[in-house]
Parts: sequence; C-alpha cells; structure tokens
Amino acid sequence: MHKIVYLSLGSNLDDRAANLRTALEKLGDLGTVNSVSAFYETEPVGLTAQPWFVNCAAKLDTEKMPRQLLNGVLNLEQEMGRQRKQKNGPRIIDIDILLFGTSVIETAGLTVPHPRMHERRFVLEPLAEIAPDVRHPVFKRTVRELRDALPPGQTVRRVLESL
Ligand code: ADP
Ligand code: MG
Repeated sequence: MHKIVYLSLGSNLDDRAANLRTALEKLGDLGTVNSVSAFYETEPVGLTAQPWFVNCAAKLDTEKMPRQLLNGVLNLEQEMGRQRKQKNGPRIIDIDILLFGTSVIETAGLTVPHPRMHERRFVLEPLAEIAPDVRHPVFKRTVRELRDALPPGQTVRRVLESL
C-alpha cells in the first residue's frame, strides 16, 4: 500500500542546488517524487558559524515501510559522500522524513513526525508551498498554521524554481 511522505532536503556544501537535484533524482529509487517546492536559501540554525543552506521540501509516494525508507535515505546520503563529523555541522546533503502518512513513530532511530519540524522555518516555508493543508498528526495543526505561528527571526528566501 503506498503512503504519502514529505521530506526535507538541505545542503550547505559545494554546489548546493545541484546536490538537491541529485538527491531528488536518486529518491526516484525509493518511490515517486511528484511534487517539489522551490529552493530556499536559509540561515543555519543551531550551529550558526557555517555556510547558509539551500533547502526544499518534496512529496514522495512510496511502498516502503518507514524503517526501510529511513535506511534508503541514509544510504543515499552516504552515496553522495556525506560525512558525519560535527553535530548540526555542514553537510553535502541531509534528508529528513517529516511526515509519513498520518503515522506517529517513536523508536530509537526514527521519530516521525520529525521532532523539530514545527519550529523550523527552513522546513515549514518550503513545505507550506506543496502541502499547506496537510495536518500534523500530533499537534493537529496544518502546515500553514504551523508556519504562520513561527516567531520571526530565521531568515529564509525563495531563490530558485526547483524544476
Ligand atoms: P540531523 O538531520 O538531525 O542534522 P542526521 O541527518 O545526522 O542529523 O541524522 C541523525 C539520525 O537521526 C539518523 O541517523 C536517523 O536515525 C535519525 N532520525 C530520527 N528520526 C528521523 C527522521 N524523521 N528523519 C531522518 N532521520 C531521523
Ligand atoms: Mg538528517
């Protein structure tokens, strides 16, 4: 049975937009990517002394189970040469599972909805473009409502059409 999944993609090393495009193409191995937001240039959150990111959100139709999908995206990150050195540090590619249908999952290596999605403008602004009316299964708020409730501060700017 296929599920509708929303992903957040980000890169802040090398050619950031090209890295997102490569990842979007490779995600085709895990399902069908049938909607992608514009690309946004975003201010780093947490560890601020690093290059700005380019982020986007994507909708994936997949037959995978949540854990299989997580393994698939982690493999994809590895294939693209991601190295984990520093927590929240610079990365060629980061792919996070934001929403997996209406599932709520809390296991050692996988939490869905993504536990920080609701406080991140770099996630909610792109996601609101492709899924404004989708509801967060824990907070019961739509993506648009969560986006509108963010405090001001984190800068994000729409820079490129994705496709
Ligand atoms: P971050 O994305 O928080 O900067 P990483 O990409 O290095 O950090 O991910 C660290 C771990 O987060 C992954 O190995 C994965 O097991 C775990 N994780 C838990 N929930 C999720 C999720 N919803 N999406 C992606 N990774 C997740
Ligand atoms: Mg990640």
